[in-house]
Amino acid sequence: MQYRRLGRTGLQLSALSFGAWVTFGRQVGRSDARELLALAWDRGVNFFDNAETYNHGEAERLMGDVLADLRFPRDSYCVSSKVYFGAAEKPRPTQRGLSRKHVIEACHQALERLRVGHLDLYLCHRPDPDTPIEETVAAMDTLIRQGKVLYWGTSEWSAHAIDEAHRVAQAMHMYAPVVEQPQYNLLHRERVEQEYAPLYEKYGMGTTIWSPLASGLLSGKYNQGVPQGSRLTQPGYEWLRDMVLGEGGERVEKAKALPAIAAELGTTPAPLAIAWCMSNPHVSTVLLGASRKEQLEQNLSALDVLPRLDAAIKARLEQMFA
Ligand code: NDP
Repeated sequence: MQYRRLGRTGLQLSALSFGAWVTFGRQVGRSDARELLALAWDRGVNFFDNAETYNHGEAERLMGDVLADLRFPRDSYCVSSKVYFGAAEKPRPTQRGLSRKHVIEACHQALERLRVGHLDLYLCHRPDPDTPIEETVAAMDTLIRQGKVLYWGTSEWSAHAIDEAHRVAQAMHMYAPVVEQPQYNLLHRERVEQEYAPLYEKYGMGTTIWSPLASGLLSGKYNQGVPQGSRLTQPGYEWLRDMVLGEGGERVEKAKALPAIAAELGTTPAPLAIAWCMSNPHVSTVLLGASRKEQLEQNLSALDVLPRLDAAIKARLEQMFA
């Protein structure tokens, strides 16, 4: 495994990490979760990502149970939660958003579900236009001073909103966000590469990037249609199907170009697409998703592909997906 500092912090995260979205508590039950987390751990993964909203808290509960069961020393791994959407199926106004009330209560609930004394990373899952930024920054600062959270950050905030959070934190002498969790893959690059460009130097911002395979699309699994049981056939995720496949099948057509380049490098499309994400020095860690052990096994081999990814190959890939 390779370890990278989370931006300018002293925290070293594995360059490949593992998340629970869609899978934990839906496609993945207790024994599979145990197998996946144990495999990740064996390969040096030290960061496990979660959120209050993932399967309405069930993903955190499952991860917490399995982590406790596996007895990994608490100081050897990092775990995150994200707040905003709420865990309830139909959240009431106080059960979602970034008010002081919800940020603090959601943290307490995540600690309980994940069965840990503190969250290493706690992220605001989206910006909340109905809460003053001063209130959210102060709530995060309180949690850090109480030792319940070690680092806080954002997910899918605009560069402007992140700037605002820093301005407020500095003015109020409070802890500022140190990490952003954006989508980043060959089909989705603009925010990480352009919008956030000034923030890496200015704030030492780290990134824990999500959907490196665009929900599996870049593995080539949708090249011949959508297999039953895959993420895009999960009830309630119809919206994701349209987003991932796109109109007119253009995104699938692009994905079909990957196997040829992957074969040149002696690999398959998924590790190649993941290695490409890792090759961006502003990516602190690539969050992997997997519903099966074989997928995780394959995706972890991106570490071996990374040294083979030279400038010429990268340029070809980027041209194909431009
Ligand atoms: P990916 O884009 O890698 O998609 C993962 C899914 O793709 C798997 O569950 C599996 O789906 C399929 N897959 C993975 N590897 C392979 C393979 N080798 N061959 C074939 N199919 C494969 O990542 P995610 O979208 O899951 O994102 C990773 C993590 O990022 C999440 O778990 C979550 O922690 C975080 N995240 C954060 C978000 C945010 O807003 N902050 C949003 C989304 C994710 P299947 O087997 O079901 O078809």
